Amino acid sequence: MIPYGRQDLVQSDIDAVVAVLESDFLTQGPAVPLFERRVSGYCGASHAVAVCNATAALHIACLALGLKPGGLVWTVPNTFVASANCALYCGARVDFVDIDPDTLNMSVAALEEKLELAKACGNLPNIVIPVHFAGMPCDMPAIGALAKRYGFALIEDASHAIGAELDDVKVGACTYSDITVFSFHPVKILTTGEGGMALTNSAEICQRMQLLRSHGISRDLSSVELEATGGWYYKQVDLGFNYRMTDIQAALGVSQMDRLNSFLNRRRCLAERYQEVLAGWPLKVQGFTDGANSSRHLFVIRVGANRKVVYDHLRASGVGVNVHYIPVHTQPYYRELGFKSGMFPEAERYYSEAISLPIYSTLSDEQQDFVVESLRLAMNVS
Ligand SMILES: *Cc1c(COP(=O)(O)O)cnc(C)c1O
Repeated sequence: MIPYGRQDLVQSDIDAVVAVLESDFLTQGPAVPLFERRVSGYCGASHAVAVCNATAALHIACLALGLKPGGLVWTVPNTFVASANCALYCGARVDFVDIDPDTLNMSVAALEEKLELAKACGNLPNIVIPVHFAGMPCDMPAIGALAKRYGFALIEDASHAIGAELDDVKVGACTYSDITVFSFHPVKILTTGEGGMALTNSAEICQRMQLLRSHGISRDLSSVELEATGGWYYKQVDLGFNYRMTDIQAALGVSQMDRLNSFLNRRRCLAERYQEVLAGWPLKVQGFTDGANSSRHLFVIRVGANRKVVYDHLRASGVGVNVHYIPVHTQPYYRELGFKSGMFPEAERYYSEAISLPIYSTLSDEQQDFVVESLRLAMNVS
């Protein structure tokens, strides 16, 4: 079975991991800060906090921005559940903004309309979490302008989007947002096994996230405190978690960063090939945000009402297609919270027609041709 996504590991990645295993530090050694500097330098952000996965990064990002019980977070329904769950971890409420049917990202028009209504009812969100779906950057200048006007914080869920650019600025530069979060799960663009990172340009937000990642414990002691206690002393100043990344993971991350540009080039090349051969077929591909260069984490198509038939046919031919995403508000857990089908029609309509075709850096031209031929048969295209 050709999967829809997979990791790209070579001997140098394995050697980097083995070197850590033979070193003094499996965790809390030099590899984590090195990986943080590599990613923040690449993206053009001043600070980075590596954690055990992107879900943890989203959680501490919300907390670092002061999200409290009773607070409110908005995200999109067309995302993985983690983008919404992070609000609930903090005891806050969550609501959704429908997507644009072309870019499949948060609709700026729907966001603006919902903000006007919320302002009238005194129910504005504390945080909005746009998701760069499939690696396509959201219209951040427009969303950033709304954040200023209505006074909410912004976390970019860039789990799909390391290497993506908007107007030649890398996603992760946090030009319009407070925090950007990346995932390094094996299906994402680069991997550390499990892993995530939160980037920010605020030293204060960075410090808060560093505390929350490691039990809320600070070793930042004044000389007076040290004098009064001793060299062994540490103090817990907040209720944090153990969300740390290991040095084993970070070393893999550093090694993968060396190949990030080749991963992106290959994904973009595969996406171009899909666009070329699928032109004229009875399906739709994802539209581009103005000025965007997608990282091409996913290649999604809308095949229409016969999606299940096409999906089953492709699976039976050995093409491991998938569907991204079941709208979060239609999950049983979210229905229990009061959400219903029909609330976010664009995300629901897109979901009913969507298929994600295989795309990853080690997918060969021949495998891609096989995917296209299988799709041709599944869709009866002559
Ligand atoms: C993968 C993913 C996450 C969660 O990432 P983990 O590293 O697995 O916790 C969050 N949001 C989106 C959009 C994702 O695709």
